[in-house]
Amino acid sequence: MSMLIEEGRTEAMAAARFAGPTLQLIRGAVAENLRRMRTGGPVMAVVKADGYGHGALAVASAAVDAGAEWLGVTDVTEGAVLRGGGIDAPILAWLHPAGIDVVAAVRNRIDVAVGSVDELAELIDDALVAGPARGGARVRVHLHLDTGMARGGCPVRDWDRMLQLARRGRDAGLLRIVGVMGHLPQADLADPRANVPWVMRLRHARDTALRAGLAPLIAHLGATSAALSDPSARFDLVRVGAGLVGIDPSRTVELAPAGRFTAPVVHSAEVEAGTPVGYGGAHVTDRRTCISVLGVGYADGIPRELSREACVEIGGRRHRVVGRVSMDQIVVDTGDVSFPRGSVATVFGPGGIAPTVQEWADWAGTIPHTIVTGIGARVARTVA
Ligand SMILES: *Cc1c(COP(=O)(O)O)cnc(C)c1O
Repeated sequence: MSMLIEEGRTEAMAAARFAGPTLQLIRGAVAENLRRMRTGGPVMAVVKADGYGHGALAVASAAVDAGAEWLGVTDVTEGAVLRGGGIDAPILAWLHPAGIDVVAAVRNRIDVAVGSVDELAELIDDALVAGPARGGARVRVHLHLDTGMARGGCPVRDWDRMLQLARRGRDAGLLRIVGVMGHLPQADLADPRANVPWVMRLRHARDTALRAGLAPLIAHLGATSAALSDPSARFDLVRVGAGLVGIDPSRTVELAPAGRFTAPVVHSAEVEAGTPVGYGGAHVTDRRTCISVLGVGYADGIPRELSREACVEIGGRRHRVVGRVSMDQIVVDTGDVSFPRGSVATVFGPGGIAPTVQEWADWAGTIPHTIVTGIGARVARTVA
């Protein structure tokens, strides 16, 4: 292979003949969306799942530069990556799929949410072994209440025990209790009435925490949908993730698309009418036509189950995806036009002609969140 490379050209130059599949983050769109969702109080930019697929550090820094006061992630390790990337804003981690690493949390100044008495007891034990007694800082804790979802958070019946234990941890100099939080179950309804019971529940939980002597506290409940549609659920901070990258779960507000997903044409050909395309010949051409193969497939996050409307933009027009989605490629029918190798196809992006993330979600029978978080690791992430 390298023998065929002309003298004076490096392999890297040869490899970069044209850009591979790329997801470009549009920072200006993140800033715009943040402005749309800021309705007075501070905003936490949630960048879990690698910033909803767009690159956690890139989205975080775009959000912080646009004024986001906090960052939210699922675990301390993700938070540490943001710290390593120079992010200085307060960070909260709330899920801890591998348990809470107290030492890493304190060292990286990451707040942790705790959602059960059991988890809090364990945190106190770990803090005792690891922390403040040896001159370290206290662990900063947000108490997470189950507000109607049964998907994490302390059940209401355990809340008083949670508060007692939190106070003991604080009085022992191990913890600082800085917040109480919940999460709303009805993110896809832009209907404040659906949130009323959960707003009441968090208010009550906050008030009992304050009466238990845990003031001051930051209370937070709402995510993108509450930030856009329910002032009563905003409390002291809203935690917005989907909205930052342009997704409104309630589909009632147009936000700015923050990603442009492009892929190169890697092969083009003219084929006769009656030509089967792809595995199983699931599509057969009905006329003489040009096809282009794009170098992205289901391993890159293109959904394998797609309706017949699925398309991409090439050369300022939409062209239909035909045949089965393969692991590494898809085929599009480009009609009369033959696009040379290296032509850029836009899978989704802003600008009107290119499909939107929401359209891909509709074609795949899913929600936009799974489209963006499903974009594979070999798709390069860039920033505009
Ligand atoms: C994901 C998540 C958010 C952000 O929700 P969006 O609807 O994406 O804005 C907020 N809080 C918690 C606890 C979450 O898990």
